[in-house]
Amino acid sequence: ESTSAPNFIRNQVREEIEAGSVDTVVTRFPPEPNGFLHIGHAKSICLNFGIAEQFGGGCNLRFDDTNPAKEEQAYIDAIKADVEWLGFQWAGNVRYASDYFDQLYAWAQHLIREDKAYVDDLSAEEIREYRGTLTEPGRPSPYRDRPVAENLDLLERMRTGEFAEGGKVLRAKIDMASPNINLRDPVLYRIRHASHHQTGDKWKIYPSYDFAHGQSDAIEGVTHSLCTLEFEDHRPLYDWFLENLPVPSRPRQIEFARLNLNYTVTSKRKLKLLVDKGIVDGWDDPRMPTISGMRRRGYTASSIRKFCDMIGVTRAEGGMVDIAMLYHAIRSDLEDNAPRAMCVLKPLKVVLTNVAEDHDEVFEVPGHPARDDMGVRKLPLSREIWIDADDFMEEPPKKFFRLAPGKEVRLRNAYVIRCDEVVKNASGDIEELRCSVDFDTLGKNPEGRKVKGVIHWVSAAHAVPVEVRLYDNLFQVEAPDRDRDVDFLEHLNEQSLSVVQGYGEPSLAEIKPEDRFQFERVGYFCADRHAAAEGKRVFNRTVGLKDTWAK
Ligand code: ATP
Ligand code: MG
Ligand code: MG
Repeated sequence: ESTSAPNFIRNQVREEIEAGSVDTVVTRFPPEPNGFLHIGHAKSICLNFGIAEQFGGGCNLRFDDTNPAKEEQAYIDAIKADVEWLGFQWAGNVRYASDYFDQLYAWAQHLIREDKAYVDDLSAEEIREYRGTLTEPGRPSPYRDRPVAENLDLLERMRTGEFAEGGKVLRAKIDMASPNINLRDPVLYRIRHASHHQTGDKWKIYPSYDFAHGQSDAIEGVTHSLCTLEFEDHRPLYDWFLENLPVPSRPRQIEFARLNLNYTVTSKRKLKLLVDKGIVDGWDDPRMPTISGMRRRGYTASSIRKFCDMIGVTRAEGGMVDIAMLYHAIRSDLEDNAPRAMCVLKPLKVVLTNVAEDHDEVFEVPGHPARDDMGVRKLPLSREIWIDADDFMEEPPKKFFRLAPGKEVRLRNAYVIRCDEVVKNASGDIEELRCSVDFDTLGKNPEGRKVKGVIHWVSAAHAVPVEVRLYDNLFQVEAPDRDRDVDFLEHLNEQSLSVVQGYGEPSLAEIKPEDRFQFERVGYFCADRHAAAEGKRVFNRTVGLKDTWAK
């Protein structure tokens, strides 16, 4: 049922299919392999693959690899893994814009022969200057009227590496006075003496995004080329190439609003900066809004798909999605599907003075309150237990329903205990509590008293030590990159990670990478996939228990 929420694009595709103007839908997801995918890409993935799925078509995975200096095989591998983990399968083989470099080159020659492209010797800066502004038309380059033969010759020599980077470009000859600046003779090829991860040293020139994208769509028979709104002004250019080249099919570009999420940044360039500066522990740091970071944090693929369904697809620009909605999506998934366990993050020792040294009692409790299929777990009780230090107050305020001197509380799934004594060390710190058990309280209220509080605990003799990593938002402000004059790194939350050593119940002894739990009263946690693979018991906090998303 996921990835099928209606939206304006799905409706449009349905109408076209019903009207017979489209036969089989073909979409594509076209990442540039210059970083890991983030939650914004997930929106595009769910839309593109979701539409293909819904209408029985196919979605291509095409790497938009026209800028070799910034691209790497490692990013290609990570992107493929992320798309598959999200639960999608691309049609046929993975594709690359670089697969089409020969064809694109032939089309560039075609434009030259038609007097629709020319080699320009102006520098990048001069081109910008000649291009004009929104209120001022551009001026033609002095090289605009080069003869066809000279253009063909120069382009070929650019290709073979005869000229320095920046020395020449190939431009389309469209309209220097167009109100749309994208049509003022856009650049089709740049000289780059860079090795390419797919084509090696074959090319010394690389096509621009605009020259590669629509033609790649046409070669692949893409019917709907879905992209974010900043490309709306490029659409006339997208169409110009398709109209002026002998392409095998006519794709159509449709734009939608990009996802902006508060307290985060969704730009590969900025995320790469966090990685390169060592601010986070790699692209898959659980604080990163990358697919792989979210996975390591404990998100399920279905929760991310559900989130993408919830946010919908529109053309409304500038909106900001509350990250609480993302938290809601994973929380409701884990609420239904994560087994329960008790884990004490801030251990305080409690001695149960009326429990014998050799007491061996084991409670059998459900793995999940509503899921019989999750079976039961065993909770042993012994004379010494750990409780959370925050569940005790020496001088409690009025409405404190947890433990305090002389007060009673229920140990979850077990007995009611009363705090009889607070033991302190020489410097006055609490060392342990001495409490007594009321053995007549299992599954029932004590005689004549009402005990409101329930706290979690683990038997000290049976507890397993765990490392718990508590993650918070990476940024302190809602829109860290809104203000262009302030470096977004100034808004970093210095407290985005704290690591604590706690104690878990015995069911946490044997864990596999990515095992997920609700630690009762604490939150949802996931066994860190890297640490668990090394046999270490490390849990990442995925999300807290309290839902703050205002529907
Ligand atoms: P970034 O600025 O993070 O590098 P990008 O758009 O340059 O983003 P691409 O690798 O080119 O990254 O993106 C692949 C596809 O994902 C594109 O079709 C793009 O429109 C889409 N996409 C990227 N970011 C978002 C976003 N925040 N919301 C929706 N779609 C997005
Ligand atoms: Mg891009
Ligand atoms: Mg980019």
